[in-house]
Amino acid sequence: MSKAASDRRALVTGGSRGIGAAVCRHLAQMGHPVIVNFASNREAADRVVESIRSDGGEADAVQFDVADGDATGAAIEQLLSDKRPISVIVNNAGIVRDAPLPAMSCDQWHDVIATTLGGFYNVTKPLLMQMVQKRWGRIISMSSISAIKGNRGQSNYAAAKAGIIGATKSLAIEMAKRNITVNAVAPGLIETDMTAGVPDFVKKMIPMQRMGSADEVASVVGFLASEPASYVTGQVIGVDGGFL
Ligand code: NAP
Repeated sequence: MSKAASDRRALVTGGSRGIGAAVCRHLAQMGHPVIVNFASNREAADRVVESIRSDGGEADAVQFDVADGDATGAAIEQLLSDKRPISVIVNNAGIVRDAPLPAMSCDQWHDVIATTLGGFYNVTKPLLMQMVQKRWGRIISMSSISAIKGNRGQSNYAAAKAGIIGATKSLAIEMAKRNITVNAVAPGLIETDMTAGVPDFVKKMIPMQRMGSADEVASVVGFLASEPASYVTGQVIGVDGGFL
């Protein structure tokens, strides 16, 4: 376990389930103390924390809704009272509210944008200055294959995830001189609660003929968070079994 990693806390939004939970466990194995954020499922977040602690890692569960700027700001202020910086941010929290656009409600549009894009702003912005002061940081955000390829019923989700790519590339340029890298990961179809019930014919469309696992996404996030990824910034890394 590297000394540097143990001094660098990692905040994973939506760390209670699916890809986020796998990312929490992976970053903990790399030696980072992990803040496991969740929206409402405390039991799931506690299970992630327990599994990390039982493996000898450090983790705490922290509830806040990333779409709520005030609540997120207050939670982050509290987290910053610990002297160790939050040096790794994984903007992973996301929701789907699928509908074809003619039938999409205003709430379906806004809830998805508020969670994904609003969450990126609400979480990342208040943590930037402490990263700048430490001259080290890793910001990794979950985009999606839908952002690039589009997907029926997902104009809200694809727009939000495409926004993540634009925000990532712009922030990467702003932060490059400060030794802070900013990247996005674009998973294809990954087995989690979000994709429960994907029909077999869709799986057959993936060149690898199977869905990916949350661990397969987490290992890419782990690389982007690591020291050896120091010259990788402004990138969108696909993890999609060749689907794109
Ligand atoms: P998931 O199984 O549905 O888990 C979603 C996680 O996000 C949960 O931990 C949930 O917390 C949290 N969350 C949702 N809204 C939140 C909010 N407003 N504030 C804080 N946390 C919130 O999702 P997943 O499949 O692991 O997906 C994770 C990310 O990868 C998402 O951004 C998703 O869009 C993206 N992605 C997934 C796939 C895929 O195939 N699964 C593909 C491409 C991209 P609670 O447990 O408290 O509800």
